[in-house]
Amino acid sequence: MFNKVLIANRGEIAVRVIRACRDLGIRTAAVYSEADRDALHVRLADEAFCIGPPAARDSYLHIPNIIATAELLGADAIHPGYGFLAENPHFAEICQDCKITFIGPPPEAIHKMGNKAAARQMMRKAGIPVVPGSPGPVRDEAAALAVARTTGYPLLIKAAAGGGGRGMRVVQSPADLRGAFAAAGQEAAAAFGSAELYIEKYLTEPRHIEVQILADGRGNVVAIGERDCSIQRRHQKLLEESPAVGLSPRLRRALLRAAVRAATVVGYVNAGTVEFLVEGTNHLYFIEMNTRIQVEHPVTEMVTNIDLVKEQIKIAAGERLSLPREIEAHGHAIECRINAEDPARDFLPSPGQITAFIPPGGPGIRVETHAFTGYTIPPYYDSLIAKVIAWGRDRDEAIARMRRALGEFDIGGIQTTIPFHLQVLDNAFFRKGEVYVNFVQRRIDLGPAGRPRSA
Ligand code: ADP
Repeated sequence: MFNKVLIANRGEIAVRVIRACRDLGIRTAAVYSEADRDALHVRLADEAFCIGPPAARDSYLHIPNIIATAELLGADAIHPGYGFLAENPHFAEICQDCKITFIGPPPEAIHKMGNKAAARQMMRKAGIPVVPGSPGPVRDEAAALAVARTTGYPLLIKAAAGGGGRGMRVVQSPADLRGAFAAAGQEAAAAFGSAELYIEKYLTEPRHIEVQILADGRGNVVAIGERDCSIQRRHQKLLEESPAVGLSPRLRRALLRAAVRAATVVGYVNAGTVEFLVEGTNHLYFIEMNTRIQVEHPVTEMVTNIDLVKEQIKIAAGERLSLPREIEAHGHAIECRINAEDPARDFLPSPGQITAFIPPGGPGIRVETHAFTGYTIPPYYDSLIAKVIAWGRDRDEAIARMRRALGEFDIGGIQTTIPFHLQVLDNAFFRKGEVYVNFVQRRIDLGPAGRPRSA
């Protein structure tokens, strides 16, 4: 097992990784930017080292500083968390070259899944259904129009290097496509450093269902159940749950099987998530694989009792997976992402000082956070300040506990997404389990200025 793990991240995920290390008896080294001197991960780690100025490119994305710190502090492994360097094959390779274990998949697997157009092609060859669309990347407007003739409209132009719900454009007609293609390419180049685009049919009311997998590099690839992440705003997840409500056992089995196959095809090792869109009761389509731990991993942990971050570390240390092939879900779990954003003002970021912070508790409630009373949220990073996870014996109990928890959660000084979540939890369609990726747009009345109605 490792002696010391450096956590190349910040926020709640850095805290989460520190806790997993401590449970395993491993020492921890935090890194932080000048904007994070007072951060909780800095306080909780055994050691902490400042790696640069606030801008992420000068600190949390600065590979030489991170590697030098790992060497200086004698860390034998690096956990990248999610975001920042987590899906950077180059970083994983440098770790390897420096004889520091990267707690994640091999660089080749990150690389293969990193280009979404290429991944799509690879999955199709492996017999996994993908959304109808271009076989691979689409070179120019003429090629896009040709694809559209078979796919039809509406269609979606996606950036091959895209992520985080960005780099997507819905196109309604050939006239739209002409302007949109060039603009999407420019946007993708600016945002992701690659102008490569591909096309998918735009599904009107799919669900986003993803499968958590663990692979130990010794031929054991296990699907740890599914999560429904259909409650999104602008293609970004806000509320996730496990298991996916109303899924037939047959479709569930097909999803798990497809996920294991996807991971096997790319020689995957460690924890990963295979994402699908599901249409109706029968159709599943691969959309991408995230080659890291996900924000929403706790819902899977709550229903399976598996500590996924601990498993990541054990796999990276060369341990064999010791899990049953069939993992059963117990009860139901829901996660609400609490962002420092004002839902009444179109989810405008609301950084600043948290003047009061009283997290909820009680049966079935888990809170993952790096925030505390007096903490100032820096404006440089993402706006996630806490995740509330509610577990219940069934979905109704999980919903009731989540409503209780969010009602208790007192966060002063900033605006948060709590009122938005309460509105979703109270929605009759959500309660019936009727969810799809455009649920928020269709069912949640955010009011003229994006204001949620009072519950
Ligand atoms: P990212 O990597 O940016 O997260 P994904 O490909 O995973 O992008 O898609 C994110 C979300 O965008 C999905 O959960 C879904 O809501 C929406 N989406 C993606 N592809 C399609 C599609 N073909 N049709 C309809 N919605 C889609």
